Amino acid sequence: MGIATINPATGETLKTFQPLTDAEIADRLKQAQTAFEQYRWLSIAERSHYMQAAAEILEQHKAEYAKLITLEMGKPLQSAIAEVEKCALVCRYYAEHAAEFLADVAVKTDASQSFIRYQPLGIILAVMPWNFPFWQVFRFAAPALMAGNVGVLKHASNVPQCALAIEDIIQRAGFPLGVFQTLLVGADKVPALIEDERVKAATLTGSEPAGASLAAHAGKQIKKTVLELGGSDPFIVLASADIETAATTATTARMLNNGQSCIAAKRFIVEDAIADKFEKLLIEHFQALKVGDPMHPDTHIGPLATPGILQDLDQQVQNCIESGAKVLVGGKPLSRPGNYYPPTILSEISAGSAAYNEEFFGPVALLFRVSDIDAAIQLANNTPFGLGASAWTSDAHQRDRLISELDAGAVFINDLVKSDPRMPFGGIKRSGYGRELGIQGIHEFVNVKTVWVR
Ligand code: NAP
Repeated sequence: MGIATINPATGETLKTFQPLTDAEIADRLKQAQTAFEQYRWLSIAERSHYMQAAAEILEQHKAEYAKLITLEMGKPLQSAIAEVEKCALVCRYYAEHAAEFLADVAVKTDASQSFIRYQPLGIILAVMPWNFPFWQVFRFAAPALMAGNVGVLKHASNVPQCALAIEDIIQRAGFPLGVFQTLLVGADKVPALIEDERVKAATLTGSEPAGASLAAHAGKQIKKTVLELGGSDPFIVLASADIETAATTATTARMLNNGQSCIAAKRFIVEDAIADKFEKLLIEHFQALKVGDPMHPDTHIGPLATPGILQDLDQQVQNCIESGAKVLVGGKPLSRPGNYYPPTILSEISAGSAAYNEEFFGPVALLFRVSDIDAAIQLANNTPFGLGASAWTSDAHQRDRLISELDAGAVFINDLVKSDPRMPFGGIKRSGYGRELGIQGIHEFVNVKTVWVR
């Protein structure tokens, strides 16, 4: 697939783009390097001023940007508006806190003066996915730019207009030319970009194969990477939980973004004693969801982003059914134009089927019944992934065990897993490494310089 806007609700190709030539890429990198040499010495106050301006542009034009998001990747318009608002929030967060996060840190030693200084690295390459086409980019760009780095973005090939809009926002906010550039290129150009000596580090949010490929190339060049990859987050409901609230939140947690979120709850692990009740509620909630045109305000679930995602999901569901899973709701693509897949629940899933090892990137809930908390934790951890985990209980002892024993980058008790600019975000195991957001996020792409004055 080339670089193009293809409406996922209709399958219509709306706009195609020529990828940059090698000479154009070289020009952009030159511009980024020239920009870095000046930009790195700007005061944090000046950088904050531009970042606040970016937040304002996002807020003022949120309806316009949201439409672009929905047009290119199909999430319901209301969710797209919320995404743009969250981008403004992360810009403001780092604009307000960067000075504190990047201040010298005095360390008492036997030197007359010793401290840590945080300095920028240079050009950072960001390879980003289409599922939160604005948010994923801003959660990288806000801390990276506040730290004095410059960014080049290789966005997913199906969201080129979002990619160009983001470059435009950063330009209009007043950041010097070259501080943030969108490179309209295919994934085949990523290795050469990493190998360029001016590019100092890279971050990728996306699938495992893409992450592994980027990290392998970066490893050869001894360059740092941050990887935010897939997840198959558990959503554990124990007998002591508030079952009604758990079932309502479970529906939101699975369906966010038409089910295409790395931190969506994907495996629902429910204690036997309350499993019938939870299952009944989940079926009711799923059946009440409206699937349709994502531009329509009443729509809960829009189309999947591409025909390929629809095919992959359908294949995974069919494999589970063939190996014995029972379909409680949904179970096959809708026969209408666009990449529509209905809310689906699978239960009685056989051990060893795809549901145990693979990420289901769409509105499909995998339901598992367990005898007690030990079995719940064991099943939750029995996955190659380790991004987030949501667990529901009213018992303090159980809560402490879940917090300690769940293998994940984040554990949320009695709530759904979500990202928040104030808290670090990232995974373990095959979900990746490194952290975005919070103070940890801004420290990923800096030289942590040890200073010792005798
Ligand atoms: P993807 O195919 O890996 O695409 C993500 C980005 O990587 C795109 O820009 C893509 O470019 C590029 N890419 C693809 N193959 C590459 C390669 N071999 N080398 C370098 N770059 C490459 O991911 P996706 O399937 O579109 O996105 C969904 C995945 O992202 C899911 O697994 C989801 O869980 C994960 N995700 C994780 C997080 C997180 O924070 N952990 C957040 C959101 C999504 P092209 O579009 O040009 O192919």
